[in-house]
Amino acid sequence: MSLNHVRPWRNIYRRKSRQIMVGDVPIGGDAPIAVQTMTNTLTTDVAATVAQVQAAAEAGADIVRVSVPDEASSKALKEIVRESPVPIVADIHFHYRRGIEAAEAGAACLRINPGNIGDEKRVKEVIKAARDHNCSIRIGVNAGSLEKHLLEKYGEPCPEAMVESGLEHIRILQDNDFHEFKISVKASDVFLSAAAYQGIAEATDAPIHLGITEAGGLVSGTIKSAIGLGNLLWMGIGDTIRVSLSADPVEEVKVGYEILKSLGLRHRGVNIISCPSCARQGFDVIKTVEALEQRLEHIKTPMSLSIIGCVVNGPGEALMTDVGFTGGGAGSGMVYLAGKASHKMSNDQMVDHIVEQVEKKAAELDATQEAAE
Ligand code: SF4
Repeated sequence: MSLNHVRPWRNIYRRKSRQIMVGDVPIGGDAPIAVQTMTNTLTTDVAATVAQVQAAAEAGADIVRVSVPDEASSKALKEIVRESPVPIVADIHFHYRRGIEAAEAGAACLRINPGNIGDEKRVKEVIKAARDHNCSIRIGVNAGSLEKHLLEKYGEPCPEAMVESGLEHIRILQDNDFHEFKISVKASDVFLSAAAYQGIAEATDAPIHLGITEAGGLVSGTIKSAIGLGNLLWMGIGDTIRVSLSADPVEEVKVGYEILKSLGLRHRGVNIISCPSCARQGFDVIKTVEALEQRLEHIKTPMSLSIIGCVVNGPGEALMTDVGFTGGGAGSGMVYLAGKASHKMSNDQMVDHIVEQVEKKAAELDATQEAAE
């Protein structure tokens, strides 16, 4: 239950955007902010790509993007779409035929910039294919590949140039009476991205796909994305996000979710609240949290778990969580259920015991949810 009515300092007022569909996933309007990732296998290796899509979906990805660089990839895309549990976005650069093939292959969305695919006739053909196959479009402006005339006009990639580029692509789609599109204005620089996104958010009511492009490795890219995307989301900007990391797509999904969870915009799985540990810890907090993170990956029900090393903060944190464990003395600690001290448990059995308690609580919450529907 949201308690934002009594805690107004937690409110985020989302920018009002039109809603479009990417397959069966709504983007924009009051739809939940969708989490995306992208495969990094060869698209022609259908088995490997499908396995990666499935792993990403299992981790919570609502949508997965796949590169379509050549005709063989368009053919593979058809099989990938058939096997995928989530809508597939086809990533197209420059080549209009790939766009048409991807729409025909069942892609739910094309990531394509209509201004970069050739003459008007070609643009119309791609738009027609998208329309005929219920395929939406994502315009993907990138600071690193801005059009020459804009670079000449502005001298370097800047927020104004990125917004202008986006609006030029939008105009082409609108002139063709195509409105099922969303837009991104990505840069690897957090300041440039944030300013460009604010500009485009004011200039259009299209849903916005957020991302900091080429953000970096797992740790540095996570931090950059959390700052860039986090600030924009906090301002209410963003309808779908992709965290770009030089890491496994599953990590991108996990980081995307954590950013949304931190802002209370999406809830999924166990939110573990744990202390950093210190000399007062009654058990090995770091090892325990590592073990629990792994053992609780299968839980999708939104719930909270506090794992706190000692009584300094343990009982207080446990008050606000579904399940809690606080280290005590003599090789055991206190288990809290629904905020109340429940029973003692020995440190050497507590990981198994907490997993059991969390699974039980998740089943209870699921049953309550089902009954309410
Ligand atoms: S809760 Fe206790 S063990 Fe954890 S960091 Fe604070 S004082 Fe240390």
